[in-house]
Amino acid sequence: MALLQISEPGQSPQPHQRKKSVGIDLGTTNSLVATVRSGIEAILPDEQGRDLLPSVVHYIPEGVSCVGYEAAEHNSTDPLNTLSSIKRLLGRGVDDIKTLGDTLPYEFTSDEGGMPRINTAYGVVSPIQVSAEILRKLAGRAELALGGMLDGAVITVPAYFDDAQRQATKDAATLAGIKVLRLLNEPTAAAIAYGLDTEVAEDESQQRLIAVYDLGGGTFDISILRLSKGVFEVLATGGDSALGGDDFDHAIANWLRIELAMGETLDVVEQRILLEAAKSAKQELSQKEQVEIEVLETALVLTREKMHELIDDLIEKTLKACKRSMRDAKIDVNSIDEVVLVGGSTRMPSVSEKVTELFGLKPKCSIDPDLVVAMGAAKQADVLVGNNTDGDMLLLDVIPLSLGIETMGGLTEKIIHRNTTIPVAKAQEFTTFKDGQTAMSIHVVQGDRELVSDCRSLARFELQGIPPMVAGGAKIQVSYQVDADGLLNVSARELSSGVESRIEVKPSYGLSDNEITQMLQDSFSHARDDMRLRGLREQQVEADRMLEDLRAAIEKDGQSLLDDSELQCLHLALDELQQLRENSEDHRQLAAQIETVGKTSEEFAARRMDASIKQALAGLSLDDALK
Ligand code: ADP
Ligand code: MG
Repeated sequence: MALLQISEPGQSPQPHQRKKSVGIDLGTTNSLVATVRSGIEAILPDEQGRDLLPSVVHYIPEGVSCVGYEAAEHNSTDPLNTLSSIKRLLGRGVDDIKTLGDTLPYEFTSDEGGMPRINTAYGVVSPIQVSAEILRKLAGRAELALGGMLDGAVITVPAYFDDAQRQATKDAATLAGIKVLRLLNEPTAAAIAYGLDTEVAEDESQQRLIAVYDLGGGTFDISILRLSKGVFEVLATGGDSALGGDDFDHAIANWLRIELAMGETLDVVEQRILLEAAKSAKQELSQKEQVEIEVLETALVLTREKMHELIDDLIEKTLKACKRSMRDAKIDVNSIDEVVLVGGSTRMPSVSEKVTELFGLKPKCSIDPDLVVAMGAAKQADVLVGNNTDGDMLLLDVIPLSLGIETMGGLTEKIIHRNTTIPVAKAQEFTTFKDGQTAMSIHVVQGDRELVSDCRSLARFELQGIPPMVAGGAKIQVSYQVDADGLLNVSARELSSGVESRIEVKPSYGLSDNEITQMLQDSFSHARDDMRLRGLREQQVEADRMLEDLRAAIEKDGQSLLDDSELQCLHLALDELQQLRENSEDHRQLAAQIETVGKTSEEFAARRMDASIKQALAGLSLDDALK
């Protein structure tokens, strides 16, 4: 496949006027901001010299009291007003977050838009607002350090984020007054931080396959990247948005609860205390073989071995996702040249051991796995803002699920296939189903199943003002465009008249990564069923068309062109077809009856044709008729 290099318009270098740009890693657990100074990326720490900003916001009745470490201190004492792991809610719908209820002990309310909101002492806040607070804090830190307003930022998102989640991230940035240069996938940013792109660029003939394994606090992402001829391409992405260090903490906290004989239900404060204890024990065990945990006036010993017992299945799940992504990318594990570790949880020796085992090579981890994403984002921001013209190469990403359109019978027609690199634009022609049809409703769906009901509905809109024509006469061109941030634009155009309609797809909040994974798995396991259903739906559409056409024809010409027995025969065939259309699950049976009806009505069709020709010719001379 020919790969395009893309450079941003209007970004000529201005040597003496460096622009102020930053990369922001808006993490579930921790967020960071970095910039490029004298060609080198650097994290911008807070006034106390701390790199990380815990992604935690504390609310009091007057508003936000604090963000970050200070806010995290309120975790145990004021849990309902101390909002953490908010990224898990960003761009999600109310239904999506039901499963998160246990891990996020907040009071939710929802509005009609379907976006969950949280009740705090200050009032109701949305995940977008909370994320904006974190971004604002980071931007403030950066502006202080760089001495002025920012010209723009690259903000990273998990590779798996869908349209709604990316849009919500952008909205949060806008709310925080930050100009977003680009959203960038986190694993891709990590690979840039290691300079893998430029390394390969120097050797024209070289191609390298890189797996980026990112295990953070709340999410797991695996990306398979290919670098060749100085261009960076994401071959496949996978992962789990509800798997990370938090889950290890929960597993350990649960063990603590049992060891302390605390019973099934804990109050919010007890729960937090156990989680904090579990987390610090886990982190210490990255250095030590065993730790002593003091919690609720009891001392317990946790060994590394015991911890592994508790969390091994979770690590195993990440390895499975890795294998799945390699299958998606159609590559063998042995062909991976480089593995990059990202995320605080990859500090655990057992994680890096297992990853090493899976790929059969030693992963790159020389850059702190907590910081690496922000570093890469800063590097990319520097290029996009126009400071670094050597690095005018940008990245190609892929879309995680196919984008399609609903066609007759509730079927999906894929327009852009999954794992297509973006930005991309594709168009396909469709036509009308009925004579004289003047409007067409376009239903945009995302997913890899055959039936619309198994896919996710992204948007609906109507193309109106199609000139009336016979069924199949109009040519409607539907174009899908996915921009570099992964956001979709759809337009439809009737080609003869030029009537056009378009929308920017801002999907209703909420396709979770799990849902994406689930939908993909379903599409594999249901492939055969789907084909059978597809066949059935196609025959049903055909049957409907035939029933409608023939009944209209009989109504009009039946009496004049058919005798009683012919008419009865045709009615019987149609009734049989109607009955099979309603009740049969077997597309072959339905196809056979369609054929029977076709044969039975052949003579009728021929007579109608004759009659209409005669009528058309009536009153015309032979010369006129032959004109
Ligand atoms: P996110 O990308 O979700 O914001 P991070 O990459 O900052 O997350 O990783 C945070 C997670 O890393 C937390 O679950 C934290 O407990 C874990 N973590 C940080 N340091 C260590 C360590 N030394 N050993 C084990 N886990 C760690
Ligand atoms: Mg992260």
